[in-house]
Amino acid sequence: MAECLFCKMVSGQIKPDTVYEDDDVLAFKDLNPQAPVHVLVIPKKHVATLNDLGEAETALLGKLSLAATRIARESGIAASGYRTVVNCNADAGQSVFHLHLHLLGGRFMRWPPG
Ligand code: AMP
Ligand code: ZN
Repeated sequence: MAECLFCKMVSGQIKPDTVYEDDDVLAFKDLNPQAPVHVLVIPKKHVATLNDLGEAETALLGKLSLAATRIARESGIAASGYRTVVNCNADAGQSVFHLHLHLLGGRFMRWPPG
């Protein structure tokens, strides 16, 4: 996906502020953080939205979650708490169409979200 911003990060064309990487997953600091800890965890494989996850990608979501919990521990927010969010399409405000899990923490967050 030549024009995909997050694919460019995976390929190294654009250098994100990386906090974690393995064979399947890349995680980096959000450019416009909404909390003291705001990290985006993405699959290296291009999947546009949560709607596009197929049987072949079911393990991916687990890998994203596992990476997020690891980053939460390393960031010191595992005990105080954090939120993981996947926005899907227009009503949820998805703006980058490469699947990403937001890891947010380091402050109290209200529920329900806006
Ligand atoms: P969403 O609105 O769920 O699609 O989230 C997209 C996120 O990507 C937003 O929180 C943006 O701040 C973030 N973002 C956009 N461009 C960059 C970038 N170049 N580096 C890091 N984060 C970015
Ligand atoms: Zn992509």
